[in-house]
Amino acid sequence: MTIYPDTVAGIANALAKRELSSVEITRHYLDRINALDRQINSYITICEAHALEQARAADRRIASGQGAPLTGVPYAHKDIFCTKGIRTSCGSRMLDNFISPYDATVTEHLNNAGMVLLGKTNMDEFAMGSSNETSFYGPVANPWKFDSVPGGSSGGSAAAVAARLAPCATGTDTGGSIRQPAALCGITGLKPTYGRVSRYGMIAFASSLDQGGPMATNAHDCALLMNVLAGFDAKDSTSVDHPTEDYSATLGHSIKGLKCGVPKQYFDKSLDPAVAASIRQAITELESLGAQCVEVDLPSTELAIPSYYVISSAECSSNMSRYDGVRFGYRCRDPVDLQDMYTRTRGEGFGKETKRRILIGTYALSSGYYDAYYTKAQQIRRIIQQDFKNALAEVDVLLGPTSPTVAFGLGQKSSEPVSMYLSDIYTTAINLAGLPALSMPAGFVDELPVGLQIIGDFFSESKLLQIAHQYQQVTGWHLLAPPLGG
Ligand code: GLN
Repeated sequence: MTIYPDTVAGIANALAKRELSSVEITRHYLDRINALDRQINSYITICEAHALEQARAADRRIASGQGAPLTGVPYAHKDIFCTKGIRTSCGSRMLDNFISPYDATVTEHLNNAGMVLLGKTNMDEFAMGSSNETSFYGPVANPWKFDSVPGGSSGGSAAAVAARLAPCATGTDTGGSIRQPAALCGITGLKPTYGRVSRYGMIAFASSLDQGGPMATNAHDCALLMNVLAGFDAKDSTSVDHPTEDYSATLGHSIKGLKCGVPKQYFDKSLDPAVAASIRQAITELESLGAQCVEVDLPSTELAIPSYYVISSAECSSNMSRYDGVRFGYRCRDPVDLQDMYTRTRGEGFGKETKRRILIGTYALSSGYYDAYYTKAQQIRRIIQQDFKNALAEVDVLLGPTSPTVAFGLGQKSSEPVSMYLSDIYTTAINLAGLPALSMPAGFVDELPVGLQIIGDFFSESKLLQIAHQYQQVTGWHLLAPPLGG
């Protein structure tokens, strides 16, 4: 039996040395998906024929000496990124029949790199959720424990990578949706600085917060993927024209002398004590690599959730208004008039959580409440940004948990939206501030993975990846895979 490499770097290396063809490695992943994904449900669409065609093209490109570093490497794509000719559902009935006429910029980058699209991954509807239970296509199982959630909204991407149904995946993060599922599934995920990765063709949830990024088993692979994803895009008006770098160039550098801040508010009563112990242990490990850790203050931590849920819902209500049954997506049957078409299309096409957010957002933006909610939330957003600015003036990065608990049970929080929202306590503030942050596996509690979060200043992605890589050189959490067979 052939043992296939299961990392991006390992696959790229085997392809470059011609030890393996892209068709062989693609076939291997498609076989695993066909054998195992029935139980996990991490893919909405499997692109078998398309993947094999891309793999053959990649093999020809490599043979002609024209291969790029990741040519022929398979990946899974969150179903929020538009893919020309392939359904892009965004986890919603509203887009169940939507075939995009164009590629997202991120998709174009992946295509130009010669990477192979295995399929489109399951996600919370329009990326609203923390458990992947709001998807029209059903929940995703956490590969470590099938009765637990994988996190959300990029739950399908995280579960697919953890279960080795793809060596890497794309995700998007509006308030934690790359980092939290990465933490709950035991993989590494990076939310880049706002504006670093193009949002063109990435279906909008809350435009001032949404950011795409890489998910993989380890930091090295995330760096290789960042090299493909990052870059200025004139088609995205919030894209930042800042030079990209080789994100893998400094991975090997020592972190001796690195100054780390540990926010004291991140270790209060909302944090599970066993998760806290794992995080403390990881911090000690980083200290043994030469990092200096001090306690810092982020006094506005508790304001992040209320401010985030007002701002993100307000932007959601505006972004969701385009789904009216006129131009694309779902349309109700036999409408009697225009009003009937709008109301029934939206009533039938959207799920419960999306409707809840539209209602919250529309209320917060209504003329009588605008100042009380939306303006106030924007003012708090500024205070949160200032808090990070103050803390990052003293230290290079901040360290803490990604999620207050390990993965919770499927169904456990689905009828309690506020308790679900509270699980985003450590992630949402970073999006409000526009900063980059990474989550990586740092232990286990009750046989479920714990994620350590590293938060940096604007455009410090290389540093975050370097710290994670150095940690992964001396620890083995990122090497563990759930025992699934196949
Ligand atoms: N859990 C958060 C929410 O439901 C974040 C989602 C995301 O980052 N897309 O809004």
